[in-house]
Amino acid sequence: MKNPIDKLMEGNKSFIANDEYAAKRALTATRGQKPHTIVVACSDSRVAPEFIFSANIGELFVVRTAGLTLDNFAIGSIEFAVSTFESKVIIVLGHNSCGAVAAAAEGKKHTGKLRFVTREISLRICGAENISDAERLNVMHACNLIQMNPVVKSYLDRGEVEIIPAIYDLYTGKVEFLFGYE
Ligand SMILES: [Zn+2]
Repeated sequence: MKNPIDKLMEGNKSFIANDEYAAKRALTATRGQKPHTIVVACSDSRVAPEFIFSANIGELFVVRTAGLTLDNFAIGSIEFAVSTFESKVIIVLGHNSCGAVAAAAEGKKHTGKLRFVTREISLRICGAENISDAERLNVMHACNLIQMNPVVKSYLDRGEVEIIPAIYDLYTGKVEFLFGYE
C-alpha cells in the first residue's frame, strides 16, 4: 500500500493535469469565486459535497465539522459566505450511519475537546425515537442555530437566501432534500 503522502502527491498531479479543472481553476483564480451554494456538512470522508453534487471548483462554499456541530468559527464562516457571495441556498447536509450522532446517542463519555461534539449532539437529539430520527433532528437543530444568527437572519428575512436541511444516503448516494423547513 502506498503511503498517504505519495498518494496525495500523485492525486494532486492528476488534478493539475485535468483540463476541466484547469479551466475552472484559471477562471476562478482570476475572476474570484461565486459559489451558488453554501454547504454545511459532516466531516465524514464519505460525505464529500463536491462529489455528491458533481460540483466543480468555485461552486460550493463548504463548512464541515463532525456531526454538523457549529461553534463560533463555523457560524462565522457561514456569516462570511452569506454576506460576501450571492449564494441563494444553505444546504445543511446530514447523513445516515453518522458516527458522531451514533456516539452521542450511545451516551459515550469522551474526554478532550471531543466531549463538546458529543455533548452538543446529544442535546440536539434528545427525545429521538431511533437513530434515523436522531440524524434528522441533528440536522434540524443545526438549521435552527444557523437561522438564529442575526446576519444570516437578515438575508433570510429579505428572501435572499434559504436554508434547506438534507440527508445524504451513504449507500445509494441520494440526497433527500427536506423542503418546507421553517
Ligand atoms: Zn457524520
